[in-house]
This record gives sequence, structure tokens and C-alpha cells, in this order.
Amino acid sequence: MMDVLVIGAGIVGAACAQELASAGLSVGIVEKSEPAFGATAAGMGHILVLDDSEAQIRLTAYSRDLWHGLAPSYRTEFRTTGTLWVAANEQEMGAIEGRRDFYRKYGVDAEVVGQDQLYQLEPALAPGLAGGMRIPSDAVLYPPTATTELLDRAFRSGATYLRSEIKSIGAHLVELVNGETMETTHVVLAAGADATKLFPSLPIRKRKGHLAITDRLPRPLIRHQLIETGYLQSAHGSDDASVAFNLQPRSTGQLLIGSSRQFESSREVELPIVERMLAQAVSYVPALRDCLITRIWTGFRAATPDGLPLIGPHSGIPGLILATGHEGLGISTSLATAKLVRQHITGTKAEIDPAPYLPDRLFPAT
Ligand SMILES: Cc1cc2nc3c(=O)[nH]c(=O)nc-3n(C[C@H](O)[C@H](O)[C@H](O)COP(=O)(O)OP(=O)(O)OC[C@H]3O[C@@H](n4cnc5c(N)ncnc54)[C@H](O)[C@@H]3O)c2cc1C
Repeated sequence: MMDVLVIGAGIVGAACAQELASAGLSVGIVEKSEPAFGATAAGMGHILVLDDSEAQIRLTAYSRDLWHGLAPSYRTEFRTTGTLWVAANEQEMGAIEGRRDFYRKYGVDAEVVGQDQLYQLEPALAPGLAGGMRIPSDAVLYPPTATTELLDRAFRSGATYLRSEIKSIGAHLVELVNGETMETTHVVLAAGADATKLFPSLPIRKRKGHLAITDRLPRPLIRHQLIETGYLQSAHGSDDASVAFNLQPRSTGQLLIGSSRQFESSREVELPIVERMLAQAVSYVPALRDCLITRIWTGFRAATPDGLPLIGPHSGIPGLILATGHEGLGISTSLATAKLVRQHITGTKAEIDPAPYLPDRLFPAT
């Protein structure tokens, strides 16, 4: 019998498998499709610290530090581009100092950027913007290769991989779609937004996002990951579709353009949303108007009502640990999630308090 079965080989499942296998546990990974097939393939790969709440800044800061710790031995792309939050006007600029202080309170380096400095840092920005905030240690990576590298590390520590779909999960047990059952001490459910197919009562809604990527540019247009300060409003959002300017320089010379948010929609690319998203991007970086878009795609974030992931035991099913509900931050927070999951399984303490992320906060014990 395995110590742990990890359901899902997205970046969260891969991080958990790597963490648990390297701790000496016997780990099996069960994935219904290919590794990094779900939201992980659709994500932007921005590794950022976000300041939406105390619990969120602690989780993202912890995880970003873990990524930096891993980076020197990492074979795949990991670049510290920094994030430049762009304030469009004086009203948005007015909130920047408060945000900077909040970051600093949690030990995260953050600098207010005045208007002149904004254009020195990023000359391609549209004229007339007010300034912003720079988070120098934020980074970017390519999520599919980051996931396969984490999986490789798990395999080197003895983890095994099975391509199959899990039909149901019981106490210390999973059932595959072919009717076979597998016993295990723990199950880690890292199935992203599909977790609700196994547990419809989980408080998770699918939140669709669009991204577009340009052709390779002859020379770099931007250096930082750029985000409008209004992004947080889009992330909080209502049931209405929203777009926010979010632009990432890729090591290939391409630009990754995001992003949109809408609940419960089909997987199809929706051109009216894409047009809004691209118009927003062009309003911040006018030269994008001349760039060729080579591909547009969608993916589903797993959104919880309070914007925090579900990490910890499912109180109704012995042995089941949830690791899902990461919305737009699962790539950033995958490594911290894995540390918290390890704490729940082995007792090895993570560097942050696991309490704010416990699933029990959102649904009662059964
Ligand atoms: C447009 C967009 C942009 C984003 N940008 C960023 C970003 O810049 N930074 C960031 O940190 N995050 C970003 N995210 C969020 C991030 O992509 C996700 O939070 C993260 O990828 C979730 O990873 P996961 O492993 O939990 O889920 P997934 O990647 O969805 O993986 C779940 C896996 O479980 C498998 N699975 C599901 N059910 C079963 C089953 N029953 N049996 C077996 N296998 C199963 C699936 O096939 C899948 O491979 C973005 C998301 C989107 C949509």
C-alpha cells in the first residue's frame, strides 16, 4: 500500500509529489490526461507576491521564496523580471504607498515608482500614466516545463505515475474508472477545478480566463511583468466578465497578453472578450497594436468564495487532503501548498500557519 496517492499532475500535484517523495514517502501520481494538461498549461507563469489579504501575502511570499531557493538548481526557465504595477491616474497612485507599506510589513521588497521613473523603466508604456509600484523579486517561468521538472524530481525520489481517471475517493481508498480500487494511507486531491466532479459540494467555481501570445519580436518591448493596479478589482470580481491589463515578456521574445475572468462558461475562445482584453492592453502599451497574435487560448481557474485555496484534511473522509482552489495563483503558490500538505501528512512544520487555508473554514464537517 502506498503512503500517498496524488490525484492530478498539474503544477500543484507535481509539487506535492516532489515534496512528499523527497521526504521518503512512497508516492503514486494518478493523472487522467497528460501532465500539466489543465489550468497549468493555460496559466501565465507569473510568480508573484499578492497583497489581497494577510493570508494571501503570507502564502505567496513564502512560495516565491521557495521558488527562488529552487531556481539555482532548476533546469527550466525561471527569470526574475520583477513586477511593475502600473497606476493609470492620481487616484490609483494614491493607494500605492499603502500597498507598499503592506508588502514591507510582511518583509517583501516593494518600491513606489514615480512618473518619470515609470518611463525610464518601461519606455513602451502609453504617455500620461501616473506611476506605479515595483516588486523586484517577482519572477516568471514556463508552467508546463516547471511541472515536468517537479515530476522528474519526484520520480528520482521514487514516485510512480499512472495514467488513469479517478472515479471516486473513500476512506484511505480510491476507485479508478475501470472499477479497480487502490488502497493508500493518504490521498492528495490536486485535481484543480475538476475537483468538484469528485466532490460536487466543494465550494469551487470554474473561472475562465483568456490569454494571447504574440510572435517573436525583433527586440524586447518590455522588461518587467506589467499589471494595471485595477487587476485586483478584476480578480475580486463579480459574476460579470472582466478584463485587466497584464503583460509578460517571454524569454522567446514573445509577449504573453492577459487576462480575462468570467464564471461558468464554455471552453471556447470568445472574441468579444478577447477584443476587450487586447484593447485594454493596447491602451497601456500602444506598440502592441503592431504585434502579430499567434495563438489565443482559455483555461479554468478554481475559484473559492474567499479567494484562498483549500489546503488540508477533508473532515468527512479519513486520509483525504485537499490541495485545490488556487484561482489565479496556483503556479506561484504550488511550492508552499506542497509544504503545507507535507505538514498535514508528516507533521513537518511549514514556515507559515496552515489555519487560514484549511478547507473546514468554507464547508462544515460531514
Ligand atoms: C488564464 C490564466 C492565467 C493564469 N496565470 C497565472 C499566473 O500567472 N500565475 C499563477 O500563479 N497562476 C496563474 N493561473 C492559475 C494557475 O494556472 C492555476 O492555479 C494552477 O495551474 C492550478 O494547478 P493545479 O495543479 O491545481 O490544477 P490543474 O493544472 O488544472 O491540474 C489538475 C490536474 O488534475 C487532473 N485531474 C482532474 N480530475 C482528475 C481525476 N478524476 N482523475 C485523475 N486526474 C484528474 C487534470 O487532468 C489536471 O491535469 C492562471 C490561470 C489561468 C486560467
